[in-house]
Amino acid sequence: MGAEKNGTGDIQPTDIVFNCPHCGKSLAIDYHAAGRKVKCADCGGSIDVPDPAAQRGPSREALELRIQELQHAVEKERRAAHQILLELKSVKARRRQLEKEHVEDLKRIETIREQVDAMRGNLDRISDILDRREKPPALPG
Ligand SMILES: [Zn+2]
Repeated sequence: MGAEKNGTGDIQPTDIVFNCPHCGKSLAIDYHAAGRKVKCADCGGSIDVPDPAAQRGPSREALELRIQELQHAVEKERRAAHQILLELKSVKARRRQLEKEHVEDLKRIETIREQVDAMRGNLDRISDILDRREKPPALPG
């Protein structure tokens, strides 16, 4: 492949345009030659055709790989967030359960307190009865 456009001299928008590093002649080469070695049509020097894609930055493959990595990272974070939400739900349910149990405990304590009060009342009555029995009999008047 020659380094200069064939005879017609038409430069296509897709052509790579650059200067020969040996003779400085302006060259236009079909983009398919990007990265290849060609001979300068003017001086015959060996030229590495610049690759505009390589100069623009990371290759398409590298970018797609990076996108995939980011998508995986996002997916991983999403799963982690979902896991945290599930745990939060579980903790909330546990808290509701404990609050319910606490209310039941309070009711139970109240019931026991009532029973103790009732027993105390019974003991007082028994105590009164015993007190009356222990009193010396009234003297015959
Ligand atoms: Zn040249």
